[in-house]
Amino acid sequence: MRIDIITIFPKMFEPVLNESIIKRAQNKGKVKIYVHNLRDWSFDKHKKVDDRTFGGGSGMVMRPEPIFEAVEYIKSRVKGKGLRVILLSPQGERLNQKIAKRLVKYKHLILICGHYEGVDERVRKYLVDEEISIGDYVLTGGELPAMVLVDSVIRLIPGVLGDKNSLNFESFEGNLLEYPQYTRPADFRDMRVPEVLLSGDHNKIGAWRKEQALRRTKQRRPDLLQCKTNRREK
Ligand code: SAH
Repeated sequence: MRIDIITIFPKMFEPVLNESIIKRAQNKGKVKIYVHNLRDWSFDKHKKVDDRTFGGGSGMVMRPEPIFEAVEYIKSRVKGKGLRVILLSPQGERLNQKIAKRLVKYKHLILICGHYEGVDERVRKYLVDEEISIGDYVLTGGELPAMVLVDSVIRLIPGVLGDKNSLNFESFEGNLLEYPQYTRPADFRDMRVPEVLLSGDHNKIGAWRKEQALRRTKQRRPDLLQCKTNRREK
């Protein structure tokens, strides 16, 4: 998979892309990530990429030309199918595990990070395939959302996580939250690990985990269970 990120703050990505699992995924050749400075496509001698909003009002809007040209440049260098151009935007579809799973199937993602009041509407309308939000709140820029999206997608690339089972039972799989996890010590300040987990009886442990996952989901996210029922009814 290849991911291109278009931003006016490329340095923000360095610490995140050069640590931990995302770094390892790149070293293993599972993903190639290129961060582009949008200002490289500015036609202005001060490298400006924003301008005032037509019709009046406060705040600046990102101009369309540099963004179109940046995307066209990347497209001209990377041939082949399987490209998705995504704008990070609070008005987009809200990111969830299902969307991450859909996006990991693409060979190539181009992510556009907005700033200021956002981007010229023509970018949304004529350049991007979809808009993605990371939640119902407004951030100062699309960089953190892009990192969240990249992280959620990269860990789904086969072979990126060490233990492939760790993907099978985690939260949101089968519309459930994950069961509680414990590690050593079995007794910590009189707080004991549930006996069943120490029993070595894998059937019992499996049943306990299933029951706990269900209970936890009912308590915290009953809406997830609702989704499942709806799907069956269809
Ligand atoms: N005025 C816009 C918000 C602009 S926020 C509006 O009301 O819709 C500036 C930029 O930050 C956006 O262009 C987007 O790229 C990014 N951004 C802010 N909040 C976001 C969120 N919840 N999800 C994804 N991107 C977000």
